Amino acid sequence: MTAIRTRFAPSPTGFLHVGGARTALYAWAFARKHGGSFVLRIEDTDLERSTGESVETILASLRWLGIGWDEGPFFQMKRLARYMEVAEELIAAGHAYYCWATKDELEAMREAQRARGVKPRYDGRWRPERARAAGLAPPTDRPPVVRFRTPEAGEIGWYDLVKGAIAFPNAELDDLVLLRADGVPTYNFGVVVDDLDMGITHVIRGDDHVNNTPRQIHIFHALGAKMPEFGHVPMILGADGERLSKRHGAVSVTQYRDDGFLPEALVNYLARLGWSHGDDEIFSAAQLVEWFDLAHVSRSPAQFDPGKLAWLNQQYLKQADDARLAKLVAPALRSLGVDPGAGPALDKVVALLKDRATTVLHLAEAARLFYQYETPSPAKLAELVTERTRPALKMLETRLADVGWERRTLGETVSGVLKSTGLKMPELAMPVRLLVTGRTQTPSLDAVLELLGRETVLARLSHHLNND
Ligand code: GLU
Repeated sequence: MTAIRTRFAPSPTGFLHVGGARTALYAWAFARKHGGSFVLRIEDTDLERSTGESVETILASLRWLGIGWDEGPFFQMKRLARYMEVAEELIAAGHAYYCWATKDELEAMREAQRARGVKPRYDGRWRPERARAAGLAPPTDRPPVVRFRTPEAGEIGWYDLVKGAIAFPNAELDDLVLLRADGVPTYNFGVVVDDLDMGITHVIRGDDHVNNTPRQIHIFHALGAKMPEFGHVPMILGADGERLSKRHGAVSVTQYRDDGFLPEALVNYLARLGWSHGDDEIFSAAQLVEWFDLAHVSRSPAQFDPGKLAWLNQQYLKQADDARLAKLVAPALRSLGVDPGAGPALDKVVALLKDRATTVLHLAEAARLFYQYETPSPAKLAELVTERTRPALKMLETRLADVGWERRTLGETVSGVLKSTGLKMPELAMPVRLLVTGRTQTPSLDAVLELLGRETVLARLSHHLNND
């Protein structure tokens, strides 16, 4: 049995869209599952829209997601000589021919067709036998394109590994351009040459390419090559049923990274979006590789649900290693203008907060109170530090001066003060929170006290209680 080889072939015209990332993930998982290879190919033939920056973003996105490639990245623009060579082979075998039709001529052809009420298509006028019959001679003032001689009758089909049997009448396909006049291949030609040369056995891609596949199959046949299997993965839609786009919110992998999602959460979410393994919702990339099959890729489009992604991210944040999270939260804090060195050890803070955060950015927001003191407003102070609470606060200050500094004892100390003064928990906890953090919303008071440390807590209490 030949080893399985899949590929991901992005066009570097922007960021890596989550839809593209999911396609890459499926192709990667399929290769990994079968012990095969995953090839990365950059389809950079759109000279106006391709950029090196986009290549970098795509590679960084794949790396961040943990989708590693075994070969490549290969760049189509470095393979121009090869496409030329294959085009010449096809011409020699009578499967392709030169066409000198000008833009204006093609436009006039389409106009006339529209006027006759037929679908506009290239009429094959430069097929050599027709050109001869019509007395057309190759002009010398402009270079030709190379066109493929598409069979005119019959139909072309394949058994799609996701969608089942698909067929198109050949009459719907015209003689497509293989090589442009400047020698750059069109998408359909570059793909076939590359999939052949790279020994691709399974083409897994978005179903926006279903219409291209019959054209590609014709080229495979003309080259006498065994064609790969095809699996076309349905699109991802937004909540309104339209194709997922920027209108729906973040759609680039890098945006999710920057918004504080963990790569394993996004991988899990994308894997499950349009593929299923029973009722499993939370699974690792290793499990995906173990379980992945094209038979369980859904035939209908999937709907992107940001709420579910946020939920999954939360699950992964809860389980994530504290030191790892601290490394992610530190830069997020800095970008909020907060120095993560100006307070308790960040991994301890993260350990306290991670159960309730949805993203790394939320975690940073929540961690902020440990590093950035907010001076309480006089109004808030007057509201919470009253004749009733002041004695209890002073009592707490005194007792905290020599108590064991650890969460349980700190909790007991607070309870002891409540007992001695007859106050209710919120009556004491709220002003303490306000005095030691500047805020009234914080995590559990004993944990906050422990993390801030004795010195800071006592300094802040005394600052507000003993200066009058
Ligand atoms: N460059 C194509 C795209 O980005 C790849 C299509 C394919 O996988 O054949 O849509």
